[in-house]
Amino acid sequence: MIELDGSQGEGGGQILRTALALSLATGKPFRMDNIRAKRPKPGLMRQHLACVNAAVAVGGGAGHTFAVNAAGQPVQIGETTLLFTPGEVRAGDYEFAVGSAGSCMLVLQTVLWPLLQAKEASTLLLSGGTHNPMAPSCAFLTLLAPYFSGNGEALFDIELRRHGFYPAGGGEARVRLHPPAQGFAAIELMQRGALLEAYAECLHAGLPRGVAERELAVLQQGLGWEESCLRNRGLRSNEGPGNALLAVLRYEHITEVFAAYGEKSVSAEQVARRLLQEVRDYQAHQAPVGPHLADQLMIPVAMAALQGRMGRYWATELTEHTRTNARTIEAFLPVRFSCEPLGGGTVISVTA
Ligand code: ATP
Repeated sequence: MIELDGSQGEGGGQILRTALALSLATGKPFRMDNIRAKRPKPGLMRQHLACVNAAVAVGGGAGHTFAVNAAGQPVQIGETTLLFTPGEVRAGDYEFAVGSAGSCMLVLQTVLWPLLQAKEASTLLLSGGTHNPMAPSCAFLTLLAPYFSGNGEALFDIELRRHGFYPAGGGEARVRLHPPAQGFAAIELMQRGALLEAYAECLHAGLPRGVAERELAVLQQGLGWEESCLRNRGLRSNEGPGNALLAVLRYEHITEVFAAYGEKSVSAEQVARRLLQEVRDYQAHQAPVGPHLADQLMIPVAMAALQGRMGRYWATELTEHTRTNARTIEAFLPVRFSCEPLGGGTVISVTA
């Protein structure tokens, strides 16, 4: 049994999701203590329990995959210890509901890689939050799907049926997974290439008039973008209240998606300035891979390396998420990550 300390490094939910994904992918059981010890409310929250339940389901259900606490009882919200024994992964049609506004994109992150290793395709119907802070947005995963494959083929596609924002939730997305017939290709992302397109999109539902215009105006002024680069997308009011401000930079070899979210007591201008800062930081750099994609690329890069396809990518920064994810992956797979500084960023490479 692999023993993991959930308080290590970042000490958040990512350690759990990576462990669930790789436990299913490798068939190795694990025990994790101190789950999310560095978060204000440690232990499993509803969103994390949804990830555990989804992992149990794709591992053949409760008769084949076991997720229990230290006393051998089924895990519940608040649990800080998990013993997970995986069964064989089964492709299929699954429905996973977070049951709150917690991110259903993080449930996808949990089951994506084991299901992509299966021989047959799968579909997922996910419900919960689709555009959440501290999680990949549906827009991020949709636009970045081709980069997870190493050869530009999207390993999954997402049909967003309904937006879900914090605190109401209620979003829904259908995901189709296409396992690669020849295994995972090597990922090599070392340059951006020419900028092909840049735009900002304001998604808003059930909010006072003018919020979207104010947010887009700050971005336009700060980035000097033309009016034609600004998209004001009002959603059905019953999808809200909610507000996500996105910026997309599409280059020849990479697309990056940045997001900021409206929240109570935070002005439209503040939301836009947060996004502006992220976009400017990225523009000031030359590395293609932003900080969030950097930690999310690690599993496919490691899986390709196991098939003898060595990968590497240049990231704008080396975050604690990335360091922690490297350690978690190395606990399950016979791979070694190395991080070399380059031009104010880091080249992340993996060897088997
Ligand atoms: P916790 O549950 O511990 O509160 P968490 O479940 O949100 O935290 P983290 O450990 O913080 O888990 O991991 C969040 C994941 O979401 C990481 O993979 C990170 O790269 C990703 N992420 C966070 N923000 C963004 C963003 N703006 N765009 C894309 N991905 C993001």
